Amino acid sequence: MRPVNLIDFYRLRGRQWSPAGAIGDLQSARLRRLIRHAYASVPYYRQLFDSAGVDPRQIRSAADLSRIPVTTRETLADLSPAERTARGVDLEKCRRSVTSGTTGVPLATHFSPRDATLINLSWIRAFSAAGMKPSDRSAAFVGRREVKRTRSWYEHFGLFRRREISAWESPDLWLDQLLRWRPRVITGYVMTLKLLAEVFRERRVDDWSPEHIFHSSAILDRGSRRKLESVFSCRVTDFYGSDEGGCLAWECRRCRAYHICSDMVVVEVLQDGVPADPGEEGEVVITNLHSSAQPLIRYRQNDIVRRGARPPVCGRSFPLLDRVRGRVDDFIVLKSGRKISPHPVYHSLDPLKGIRRWRVIQESPDTLTVEIEPAGEFDDSCRGAVERNLRALTAGEIGINVILRDKIPVDPDAKFRAVSSRIGSR
Ligand SMILES: [Zn+2]
Repeated sequence: MRPVNLIDFYRLRGRQWSPAGAIGDLQSARLRRLIRHAYASVPYYRQLFDSAGVDPRQIRSAADLSRIPVTTRETLADLSPAERTARGVDLEKCRRSVTSGTTGVPLATHFSPRDATLINLSWIRAFSAAGMKPSDRSAAFVGRREVKRTRSWYEHFGLFRRREISAWESPDLWLDQLLRWRPRVITGYVMTLKLLAEVFRERRVDDWSPEHIFHSSAILDRGSRRKLESVFSCRVTDFYGSDEGGCLAWECRRCRAYHICSDMVVVEVLQDGVPADPGEEGEVVITNLHSSAQPLIRYRQNDIVRRGARPPVCGRSFPLLDRVRGRVDDFIVLKSGRKISPHPVYHSLDPLKGIRRWRVIQESPDTLTVEIEPAGEFDDSCRGAVERNLRALTAGEIGINVILRDKIPVDPDAKFRAVSSRIGSR
């Protein structure tokens, strides 16, 4: 596979203005390629298609996808990497990440270097559409403890220069780093950004503020959006994405809805298994057209959206949706008053072995209860890793109580809070 270059980016960027028919043709061609590849080289999909009586040649476009059963995060998480990844792919060379999304079930995903770069570029396309200029510096809050220090090839040309800030550090340190880097754009997750807003206000910073905040990873409620806009006196734009799907959609000010990146991903909105009508709500099922290493075909995203009722008005052809329901969490609040964003909690638990589903509950200021639904054997070393990571995150300020559960109940009609706190939700 040839590496991605600048021409790919300009093509990708230009495509949002292509006629809908051309985008549809491209989507169908990529879908056919993915379906053939998954059937030929991924044991899980071969078995799934065979058991559902699906001949890969029957899938010509997104309209044919309903022949294929939906796959859940739980199903993929229970498979071995060999069953869910493509034969012949060197997983060591892939970009690997583990996230638990909205249901507390960690799933490892692998992307080939080419797919990973294209997905990065599609994020950049969405950021550009929202107003980021190539010369703008940005700062991104990440849930990982270690930040990425290497630079992408385009950054060496002074394009889309980006620094990461770890949500593990204290809000004061975040602000110190921002005041040094002075980015025009900040990207992050609502709970982290709210903590930043608090320290920004406390320290009465008056010689820098971001001009634009890009939010992703959770539902951005109206109150939080207003708070961020007023504290930083800046514009806030919301993006809908996931580790599995990349950038799924971004908020367009002119259309007052989210454009689906339909050249990169097929987003289906289903109500009781059939496509929702325009203007109706439904659950999101995605097919990532750039997931050759670990195909994601009709993968349940566990979010609820509303299909756009109107066509776009901004000149783009990408169809529209509105976000309705997705990840929501609480802060963890320590006795010292320090608040911890849920974001690093995900990164403390998701990569650990032996966990099928997890949930963190803070009932009191003294104890954090970690419920674990084990995957296979959850032994003392797994328990030790959970305790160690959360102790490091909370600087030992709170007791960690790990409880094993046969099953952590999930109410499909309620918001699942992977991180909930009686104190932090007040
Ligand atoms: Zn638009």
